Amino acid sequence: MKRRIALLGLALLPLAAMASEGSVKWGYEGENGPENWAKLSPDFFACSGKNQSPIDLSGFIQAELKPLKIKYQAGGQSIVNNGHTVQINYAPGSSLSLDGKVFELKQFHFHAPSENLIKGKSYPLEGHLVHADKDGNLTVLAVMFVKGKANKALAQAWAAMPQEAGEPQALPTQVSALELLPKSRAYYRFNGSLTTPPCSEGVRWLVLKHPVTASAEQIAAFEKVMHHPNNRPVQSVNARPVLD
Ligand SMILES: [Zn+2]
Repeated sequence: MKRRIALLGLALLPLAAMASEGSVKWGYEGENGPENWAKLSPDFFACSGKNQSPIDLSGFIQAELKPLKIKYQAGGQSIVNNGHTVQINYAPGSSLSLDGKVFELKQFHFHAPSENLIKGKSYPLEGHLVHADKDGNLTVLAVMFVKGKANKALAQAWAAMPQEAGEPQALPTQVSALELLPKSRAYYRFNGSLTTPPCSEGVRWLVLKHPVTASAEQIAAFEKVMHHPNNRPVQSVNARPVLD
């Protein structure tokens, strides 16, 4: 019965909302915007879940969070504008260890303005470093940007910024994700989801407490190729603790 309802829902979708390869078109505005993601496809059902990202991080639970164990090498090897974000794909060999598991850095990408808020505060840019363990479990390390000095990793990546959505382009020199991180690795932790459809849950979120800087020009260059904000609004925290 559930399946029939799901299929019916799909049948009621306007044809225009379906992309040619069977994937559903979603975006940040209007009918295909975040409020409607869960209704766009049965595959996006998780977007209406109780453990969604992003959130406004506040009401912290004091915890003895262990220092981050990061082993990164320069490995950002290609850049892609996929129409939803600008993403730098990472070569194998860089990882973060958490909960006794090794999560390999796969890619990092950006949102402007920030998706997560820290104690109600929004930032002009947020970076998401996406890691996966051997079973496909995800850990996202989030870093906030404030306007200030230019960021070195962004300078390298943005030099090859694709103005239009398309295929990945090789970067002339491998970008180091370490250049995106603040000196202090203090972080908050909570359980969440992908912030884009299919909004899959079970994602470990680590949000660095201290922002790094990017120049006003670097932030503007990203906003320009996106054409519109690419931040999902904050979701209800519900029963989740946010650890400090
Ligand atoms: Zn993201």
